[in-house]
Amino acid sequence: MEKVLIIRYGEISLKGLNRPYFENTLLKNVKRAIKHLGDINVYKAYGRLYIDLEDYDVDEIIEAVTNVFGIVSVSVAYIFEADMDRVCEVALEQAKECIEEDDVKTFKVESKRGNKRFPIKSPEISRVVGGYILENAGELEVDVHNPDVIINVEIRDKAYVYSRKIPGFGGMPYRTGGKAMLLLSGGIDSPVAGWLVAKRGVEIEAIHYHSYPFTSDRAKEKVIDLARILSRYCGRIRLHSVNLLNIQKAINEKCPLAEMTILSRRFMMAIAQRTALDRKCKALVTGESIGQVASQTLESLNVTNSAVDIPVFRPLIAMDKLDIIKISQKIDSYETSILPFEDCCTVFLPDRPVTKPRLEKIIDSEKLLDVEELIKDAIDNMEVIIVYPED
Ligand code: ATP
Ligand code: MG
Repeated sequence: MEKVLIIRYGEISLKGLNRPYFENTLLKNVKRAIKHLGDINVYKAYGRLYIDLEDYDVDEIIEAVTNVFGIVSVSVAYIFEADMDRVCEVALEQAKECIEEDDVKTFKVESKRGNKRFPIKSPEISRVVGGYILENAGELEVDVHNPDVIINVEIRDKAYVYSRKIPGFGGMPYRTGGKAMLLLSGGIDSPVAGWLVAKRGVEIEAIHYHSYPFTSDRAKEKVIDLARILSRYCGRIRLHSVNLLNIQKAINEKCPLAEMTILSRRFMMAIAQRTALDRKCKALVTGESIGQVASQTLESLNVTNSAVDIPVFRPLIAMDKLDIIKISQKIDSYETSILPFEDCCTVFLPDRPVTKPRLEKIIDSEKLLDVEELIKDAIDNMEVIIVYPED
């Protein structure tokens, strides 16, 4: 029997005149996500996308497709000539599968009749199919209000029968929302922040700061690994790798040590903004969250924020660490994030960092440095790595 994957998208269907643009981008993104699995047919019909499953590995396709942003859920549907006896048989098969695999006890049938020439109306289809399942599926009972599973029957050019819905992440199709530069550290927070913004359709480039040779090659590898995990959802990612060591040395030499973190963070923001503008990114993204560490008090956030003019998105700003960790586990970055490699911020770390910096005082300290020259030098020596998803 022919099988297709039905792909549902939510919010995009509200997009009015722009809808074709969002749908077509989603279609392109789905095709890209399964390209490595073969020459698979994907098409748009009835306000959804469909994939011909043929003999391909269904689980592999589902895994790749549910990582595509904009998709609310998918279902495997059986397609065959519309005929009530066949519909009853296939629906019964589906019900039995659900009993075996998902321990389902109650069900309900929902029907749609797109082809009005089909002689039986939808409520009648549901009644007949429901009755047939009830009679033949053993202990399964009907529950119209809160069933464990809904068996769906759709009559269009052919009959479509499906049951289970596998959830996607929702959001908007990637690359429909402009581009932003993610400050990607080796920690737990920034990959999650980038993922959340990407889920809203914003294309992500990343920038990372290290203090090589004070930080190791393994620390750098770790950030590439994190970018690779993001690329599962986004496709290839451009990662800018910047050595901050000369800047940290200059700060160490000329400025109060307690200001090390806040001053380096202003440099990070300034370098990120310059790279962002150069790459046509319209915003920065960070994993900052109020109160997490000394550099994330409101005073510190204000001081780092005023190093740049473009918007800085902080999707985690009001989230608790435990909730951030849950997302990082869901998107599979957690295990990589907790690997113990040093971040550039741990070099020259002050014992007692300022927690309530005053902007005027920080700007006075910056006057002791050749800020422009240091930034220019860091950018000139920046390394660019294109990170591809693993197949
Ligand atoms: P994370 O878990 O993301 O490392 P954190 O809790 O360690 O965050 P901070 O070190 O204060 O917090 O960093 C706050 C944000 O600043 C990070 O989420 C990230 O966006 C950015 N950032 C910090 N260090 C770096 C770095 N070495 N390279 C790029 N961005 C960085
Ligand atoms: Mg960090």
